[in-house]
Amino acid sequence: MLEAQLMSSPSVVTRIAPSPTGYMHIGTARTALFNYLFAKRLGGKFLIRIEDTDRERSTEGAVAAIFEGMAWLGLEADEEPIFQNTRADRHREVVEDMLARGGAYRCYMTTEELDVERTLARAEGRSVRSPWRDHTGILPDKPFVVRLKAPREGQTVLRDLVKGDIVFENNQLDDLILLRSDGAPTYNLAVVADDHDMHVTHVIRGDDHVSNGARQSLIYQALGWDLPVFAHIPLIHGPDGAKLSKRHGAQAVGEFAEMGYLPEAMRNYLARLGWGHGDDELFTDQQAADWFDIKDVVSSPARLDWDKLNFINRHYIREAGDLRLAGLIAPVLQARGIQSDGALLNRLISVIPLIKEGASTLIELANLVGFALTADDAPLDPKTAGLLTAEVSERLARLRDTLRDVEDWTVPTLEQLIRDFAAAEQVGIGKFGPALRGVLGKGSPAPDLASTLVAFGREGSLARLSFALD
Ligand code: GLU
Repeated sequence: MLEAQLMSSPSVVTRIAPSPTGYMHIGTARTALFNYLFAKRLGGKFLIRIEDTDRERSTEGAVAAIFEGMAWLGLEADEEPIFQNTRADRHREVVEDMLARGGAYRCYMTTEELDVERTLARAEGRSVRSPWRDHTGILPDKPFVVRLKAPREGQTVLRDLVKGDIVFENNQLDDLILLRSDGAPTYNLAVVADDHDMHVTHVIRGDDHVSNGARQSLIYQALGWDLPVFAHIPLIHGPDGAKLSKRHGAQAVGEFAEMGYLPEAMRNYLARLGWGHGDDELFTDQQAADWFDIKDVVSSPARLDWDKLNFINRHYIREAGDLRLAGLIAPVLQARGIQSDGALLNRLISVIPLIKEGASTLIELANLVGFALTADDAPLDPKTAGLLTAEVSERLARLRDTLRDVEDWTVPTLEQLIRDFAAAEQVGIGKFGPALRGVLGKGSPAPDLASTLVAFGREGSLARLSFALD
């Protein structure tokens, strides 16, 4: 606690700045989580900015997918979201300021001129240069772009909390465009202006933005603004080490939700992906916020590991309340044509505790409750019918008589009863167990016998036995 107080720095501000691309990538979710945890640890603020300057790609649906993903993950921003698109006037104002300071210039090169210069620059192994950079005197009345007057000599060093110092030779960096000829601000300019105005102190993002980091540093310098601290985190790769793609099973947050992963499991798993606290695989949100440090993020790409994710999800399913789990799997069952009503929920709540140990996902949980959703008078499946030889049927009829007298209808009592019954019959449980399970669950995969009997209750169990035997 004392440590937390000492470290508390209300001035720390982080942000997630997703571009709406139609869905929320799992990498974006992890970046959001790292920013969130970093801010929480230091008592700072976590903000969200939607980078919707690309008007063609930024549909309302794409923006909604980000908010849904964030809400599902439980990552709440500390302030209202900022929409980059609404800030174009401010971006232009910043560019005016740079022009006034001499940190930027108007460039009137035509497309043809630029093509020639590009070819030359490539041949000479240098960056593109504009003759307008040092132009003095009257400016033509023609369309222009505004470019950054980037330093030509020396180096730009990006101090990165994850990667260490990354050195860029300035003669390789372009005089990048800040404002297009139609007056639209460019991406790097907008990011710098927004991060500055949002008082962002730490820019934690994917390492596909490292070279943008260098360019953005130059913009900060040209504006005379303090630089934020950069931390570029390695991307998430598939289990085979290749860039995460569709063929690895899932890449959108919504897909993981649909596959039946719980948000708290996802948070735990994503926090562990590229960051760690010793060997701890399972930790609470509070522990993650107490322990997280960007310096402990590893600098090599993290690999998606389905086994580990399933292990973590299984843990959180076991921890989750049965009422909540019932509410989560009811829609899954409804999509399979099972009516979602009070009776179903009641049944789920009584069955879930008996089987949830065996489920790694909510889909598996929905599969495991299937046996309990069959009707008492549903016909037997052929396999169970085949198991009911005269001998087995007689044995089950004797078991039914024994079950009638059981008062304590619980798993331990019924387990003992089944063992005693087998001993009295002088057979192994294997001689009647499969048939009993088939009779109760109508052939659907059912848990152990005692749990199955508890799931149906005494009356239900006896009704199913009578339906099969009489
Ligand atoms: N909009 C960028 C993206 O979605 C992130 C930019 C940033 O974090 O600076 O990749």
